[in-house]
Amino acid sequence: EQSTPPPAGRGKELRSPICCILGHVDTGKTKLLDKIRQTNVQGGEAGGITQQIGATYFPIDAVRQKTAVMADFEKQTFDVPGLLVIDTPGHESFTNLRSRGSSLCNIAILVIDIMHGLEQQTLESIRLLRDRKAPFVVALNKIDRLYDWQSFPNNSFRDSFEKQPRTVKQEFQTRLDTIKVALSEQGLNSELYFQNKNMSKYVSIVPTSAVTGEGVPDLLWLLLELTQKRMSKQLMYLSHVEATVLEVKVVEGFGTTIDVILSNGYLREGDRIVLCGMNGPIVTNIRALLTPQPLRELRLKSEYVHHKEVKAALGVKIAANDLEKAVSGSRLLVVGPEDDEDEMMDDVMDDLTGLLDSVDTSGRGVTVQASTLGSLEALLDFLKDMKIPVMSIGLGPVFKRDVMKAGAMLEKAKEYAVMLCFDVKIDKEAEQYAEEQGIKIFNADVIYHLFDAFTAYQNQLLEKRRKDFLQDAIFPCVLNTLQIINKRGPMIIGVDVQEGSLRTGTPICAVKTDPTTKEKTVLLLGRVVSLEINHQPVNEVKRGQTAAGVAMRLEDPSGQQPIWGRHVDEKDTLYSMISRKSIDVLKDQAFRDQVPKSDWMLIRKMKPVLGID
Ligand code: GDP
Repeated sequence: EQSTPPPAGRGKELRSPICCILGHVDTGKTKLLDKIRQTNVQGGEAGGITQQIGATYFPIDAVRQKTAVMADFEKQTFDVPGLLVIDTPGHESFTNLRSRGSSLCNIAILVIDIMHGLEQQTLESIRLLRDRKAPFVVALNKIDRLYDWQSFPNNSFRDSFEKQPRTVKQEFQTRLDTIKVALSEQGLNSELYFQNKNMSKYVSIVPTSAVTGEGVPDLLWLLLELTQKRMSKQLMYLSHVEATVLEVKVVEGFGTTIDVILSNGYLREGDRIVLCGMNGPIVTNIRALLTPQPLRELRLKSEYVHHKEVKAALGVKIAANDLEKAVSGSRLLVVGPEDDEDEMMDDVMDDLTGLLDSVDTSGRGVTVQASTLGSLEALLDFLKDMKIPVMSIGLGPVFKRDVMKAGAMLEKAKEYAVMLCFDVKIDKEAEQYAEEQGIKIFNADVIYHLFDAFTAYQNQLLEKRRKDFLQDAIFPCVLNTLQIINKRGPMIIGVDVQEGSLRTGTPICAVKTDPTTKEKTVLLLGRVVSLEINHQPVNEVKRGQTAAGVAMRLEDPSGQQPIWGRHVDEKDTLYSMISRKSIDVLKDQAFRDQVPKSDWMLIRKMKPVLGID
């Protein structure tokens, strides 16, 4: 068993800042990470750059080397011991950005493809960064794709840019301007980093190429500059532990392990730790602290190096008992001799129970499931803004029991028998069960896409509901007979729409009052099968729409049609045959939007006439 402490660095009081990277798919996040990791020195992990668990550590010497070309342009300071870059790009980075309780990300890199500008996940990232008040810089990547770009590998952007032909400079400027406008539409003022006079108000843009490495020195320089000068308070070494669970993984020989980013303090073998679990707090002891074996020594038996003690900031794998239900994104606390373990258990669970505030107390709403606390929080924030109620929340892969929870809505409100899943695996059995029960599962790695899918599904359900209820969706109308065109087989009447609107499908009636008993009889003349104005078929005629009147053709399959001239004639006012039921149907969400206020007033007027109470 080895006990190699990770590089401690030389900064006495500051710890390494932690940086994460996010942005739209294919903007070059992975490639940029790879490029940052590469050293100019041959032989892999030279310069002390070490691959850790879920992160790459750059000791300050490596950073110094990589940013050397910046010396021509900027003064440089190297107060921190190094830089820790979190390896998981993309939506997993949501784990790192929490509205409370997380010190995991000191600064973020938002990658934008200069050829594509702002894309959906860019907007989502911006929203998240803003909500979490996370400081960030923009890497405007793929500058090498500007037409005729002359590349100078690993150069500073400023020097490379000076050497470009005029046309390249022009194209760059045009694209930059467009992107700045797009950013300002998102409420973000931005400026090229070396023209940015007000770092606290303006977001800095660093043009980069992950292929040629140009702009990478500028990016690293800026990350150091911003964290050292503006966040030195957050970077102070603390004696207490700040750590976050990135991932929960089963590893052969170790059982369930957690990958943890230690932002501050020390972790030691044997430490008693407290973290948030799916079914309650987890308290356990660290059995092993592991980092990956350096590449050169992969031939060794074990994939991992064991440590007695590790110091922030770093990424480390922890093996311990009872980690099966650990929650990604959870804080990890270490119980000290003075600490109250119960209090700490409540503390870590707050991260999860706090999210329960977003659950709708009416018990009606969708079921939401996400991969980590951070991404769940982001999704819930979004749904709140979109006014989509949430009935239940969950973390991790979707199993049948999760789908069953959503199934509770089938009876109450079918439109909410829906699972919105963000970046999680869905178990086969769960999928099948959902299918059988008619529960919709939407899974996406862009929150907007979930919203779009949900909205489309709601409309589809409404459309179906409209079809189902169409027979009973009777809009109010009052008609005057202008002339009888055909008395029977079929009955065709020329009418004038006095009030409301006359539609095909509507049942039409006359109301007869017995002169002695005053009792009312509603006589059904039939349903409107077609309407014609000047021999042109129409589906709907509104009051005042035509002076010529409309020919209304009625059919009554029951064969009980009253006889024109005996039971009913020109003197009778005709009505759409509304009923208690039809009024309820119009109140249903499927039609609510389609019924104007004037119709409701007309219904109120017609009710006593037709004897509806
Ligand atoms: P991610 O989805 O954001 O992680 O994007 P990747 O890093 O996987 O890159 C997506 C594609 O863009 C890959 O084919 C990369 O080779 C390419 N790419 C990334 N960065 C650059 C760049 O700076 N210049 C050019 N020309 N291609 C790039």
